[in-house]
Amino acid sequence: MGFLKLIFQLVLVTIIIVSVVAVYFSSQKKQFSTVDLNSYVENDITGTGPAASLSKVKPVTEQEIIDLITATSGPVTVSGVHHSLGGQITYEHSLFLDLSDFDEVLEFDTEKKLITVQSGISWSQIQQVIDPHNLSIKIMQDHNDYTVGGSLSVNAHGRYVSDGSIINSVKSIRIVLPNGQIYDASPDQNSALFYGAIGGFGGVGVIVQATLELVDNIPLERSIKTLSFNEFNNYFKGNVLNDDSVVLHQAILYPPNFESLLNISWKKTDKPLTDDRRLQENLDEPWWESLLLTLRAKSTLLHRFQKNLFDPYLYGEEAVVTRNLETSSSLRHAGFIASDDSTMAMQEYLIPVNRFEIFVFNLRDIFSRHKADIFKILISYLPQDHGGLLAGSTAHVYTFKIIYLQGKNQQSHDQVESWTNELVRASTESNGVHILPYYVHDSTQQLYNAYPSSGKFFELKKNVDPNDRFRNLFWEQHHQAVYAGAQRQLNVPVNSFDQE
Ligand SMILES: Cc1cc2nc3c(=O)[nH]c(=O)nc-3n(C[C@H](O)[C@H](O)[C@H](O)COP(=O)(O)OP(=O)(O)OC[C@H]3O[C@@H](n4cnc5c(N)ncnc54)[C@H](O)[C@@H]3O)c2cc1C
Repeated sequence: MGFLKLIFQLVLVTIIIVSVVAVYFSSQKKQFSTVDLNSYVENDITGTGPAASLSKVKPVTEQEIIDLITATSGPVTVSGVHHSLGGQITYEHSLFLDLSDFDEVLEFDTEKKLITVQSGISWSQIQQVIDPHNLSIKIMQDHNDYTVGGSLSVNAHGRYVSDGSIINSVKSIRIVLPNGQIYDASPDQNSALFYGAIGGFGGVGVIVQATLELVDNIPLERSIKTLSFNEFNNYFKGNVLNDDSVVLHQAILYPPNFESLLNISWKKTDKPLTDDRRLQENLDEPWWESLLLTLRAKSTLLHRFQKNLFDPYLYGEEAVVTRNLETSSSLRHAGFIASDDSTMAMQEYLIPVNRFEIFVFNLRDIFSRHKADIFKILISYLPQDHGGLLAGSTAHVYTFKIIYLQGKNQQSHDQVESWTNELVRASTESNGVHILPYYVHDSTQQLYNAYPSSGKFFELKKNVDPNDRFRNLFWEQHHQAVYAGAQRQLNVPVNSFDQE
């Protein structure tokens, strides 16, 4: 009897252990989750953009995405990690597909240097996978927080002197259209979809997959040069653009006078590394760093300290590091802050290289008259972009990333809006463009003027999304132009996709 009792107890214990293990593993399996259906209020990371109440869903498989789209008939918004500012990810009462858990690596070919990923994966997650194989992302933004889908959908760019925008590193994408059908697209297959969805701000469908080119994770050596703003253009052409060894480049243009720059170049080298870390650790910034940054945006003295002492010391030290170490910084690591009262924010303008000085002259006047809280301006170079329907760089341009501080109150909002309007006008007068993942402010006519192929994009959207389901507040303002047929010049072969 005692022996039977022991067996019984053993069986019971085994059942309990197996159940606990099964429950544990099933809870580890990824499933899509719905958050506060119909009541979730979504906003961008700064918290200053237009918010919307919506049904937020976090799909984790392609099939879930298709099922979710086809099970409803209302508006659909798509998002990565919300770093576009100004409503590109929100729309009232929409089905909100948050893809941040849709983040698997599907294929990784170290020989061919290609990686295929689900679109919600971040650059940081990709770097963790490829760094042990000494490979590096070919083109990404200045920081590694963003998702691949969000980056493709704005056709992002970084500090790469000769590689241009992200579209130049994409072999192919896979996209779910508003009717639930899936297409593969590349420059050779369904090219209208490829050139429309990349840079398409979630208006054409959901990019579910991308195959991206990788490059070798080579050592890079940093060098700096302090320049006055009227020396910059010649210096850049002679010492950066014409030097094949320069891989990454950025210049800092300093407030409040915007007269001098610190030029920072990263060149290929055979020298030994001075820092043998593989990737940067993305630590939260200490509290005093936000305070210092806020003070720095507001204080002329601290601007001078940064320009004359801090940055020359920080960047002047000898540095030979791997490409991955230099490109693995996160925004938080770089000091991006958003508190309850204020936030750092960014706008970006692409200005033809021969208009550099006149644009600097104009922005200096605008910022001084409006007493704008500019933290710094980062300048890189972008060669002409080919193919993308919403490509901003239709010429060789400098990218002006304007990083500023904005209070979360109406007065500050109005102040930023008024200097932004003037800056947009100044950039147009310089044959430049404001780029789109930031503020919602232009009319459809301004969009046509700045982006000559936007009409083709609208025609594509009308064909693949006849009921305007893929919406956000950015596309909303151009709805009339797309659906009321205001633009008719176009010839995009959208009816001939090769379905898989
Ligand atoms: C501080 C700061 C610094 C920045 N620096 C740079 C920079 O150096 N270079 C640069 O180019 N940009 C820069 N940006 C802009 C940034 O690249 C874009 O906002 C990018 O979209 C962010 O990716 P995300 O994952 O947050 O996308 P989200 O903001 O979530 O989405 C962006 C757009 O893509 C759409 N989308 C997202 N995922 C998909 C998908 N899978 N399929 C279809 N559509 C989708 C959304 O609908 C939305 O319209 C910066 C932004 C900030 C706030």
